[in-house]
Amino acid sequence: MSVLIVGSTALDSIKTPTRENPRLLGGSASHASVAASFFSPVKLVGVVGEDFPRRYLALYKKHKIDLAGLQVLPGKTFHWSGEYEANMNNRRTLLTELGVFETFNPTLPSTHQDAAFVLLANIAPSLQQHVLEQMKRPKFVAADTMDLWLNIALPDLLKLLKHLDAFVLNDSEAHQLTQEDNMFLALKKIHKMGPNYVIIKKGSHGSVLSAPQGFFLCPAYPLNRVVDPTGAGDSFVGGMMGYLASAKGGIDANIRRAMIYGSVVASFCCEGFGLQRTTKVTRKQIQQRVKELERLTRY
Ligand code: AMP
Repeated sequence: MSVLIVGSTALDSIKTPTRENPRLLGGSASHASVAASFFSPVKLVGVVGEDFPRRYLALYKKHKIDLAGLQVLPGKTFHWSGEYEANMNNRRTLLTELGVFETFNPTLPSTHQDAAFVLLANIAPSLQQHVLEQMKRPKFVAADTMDLWLNIALPDLLKLLKHLDAFVLNDSEAHQLTQEDNMFLALKKIHKMGPNYVIIKKGSHGSVLSAPQGFFLCPAYPLNRVVDPTGAGDSFVGGMMGYLASAKGGIDANIRRAMIYGSVVASFCCEGFGLQRTTKVTRKQIQQRVKELERLTRY
C-alpha cells in the first residue's frame, strides 16, 4: 500500500561545530519520503520554488517517489538554516525563509486521495488538516509537529489531534503540550486529546510508544559519530509509516517492528549531512542494523 506524505520540502543550510553545508535537500517531507520509500511506494505532497535544483528532483525520482503532488511555484523554495552545539543535540534555528510556503495550498490529485496510509509530517497544522480533509478513507493517519506550532498554532493543532490515529512528538514538545514532567502522565493526557497511538521521541535515547496494547520502548541504534541529526525525527516516522504500509496484518501486530525500522533509517540519516547518507543506504544495510538492534535488546 502507498503512503501519502505532506510536509515541508526545503533547502537546508546546516552548521555543525566542524562544518557548514549550504542549501542541502531538506524538509520534513523530503526526509520522511526517502525513509518510507525503502518499504512502500510514496506520494509526496509539497511545494518548491523555481530555484529548486533539478538534481534534488532526481534524488526523489531515484527513490521512486511520486511527484504528482509536488507543486512548483514562481518564487523561492522554503529555506531553513540551523546551527548545532558541540553536543550535536542542541540546535538553534538561524533563519526561516518561507518563500513559496507562504501561499501554499495543497490540493491533492485524485490519484492521491485514496492512499491508505497518511503521514502529516511537520508543517503548519492547518495545512495538515486541509490535506486530511481531502483524503477519502485512510486506514492509518499519523502526524508529527514542532515547538513552533505549539507556540503559534495550538488551537489548530488541538483540532487536528482529534482526527489522528497516531501523534509523534519529542519529549520537550510533550512537556510543553501537557505541562507534565512525567512522560507516562504526559502520554495519558495526549491520548485524551485524540490519538490512540502516541510516540514520544527522545533523540539518541530512542522513543516510547503508548498504544491500546500497552507501552513499547524502542531503542535508538548506537552510533559512535553523529554528523548531522537534522531530519532524524522525520526519517524515523517516515520509515515507520513505510514499513507499516508494507506489512501484512493490523497496526497492533506491526507497529513495534515498524518503529525499529524507523529507528534504523534515522540512524543512517544522522551519519551524513541532510539526506546525503540516507539516499545511499541499501535495504540490506537496513536489515543488518535491525538484526543488530534485535541482538542488543534481547535478554
Ligand atoms: P528535525 O531535525 O526532525 O526537527 O527536522 C528538520 C527539518 O525540518 C529540516 O529539514 C527543516 O527544513 C524542517 N523545518 C524546519 N523548520 C520548519 C518549519 N517551520 N516548518 C516545516 N519544516 C521545518
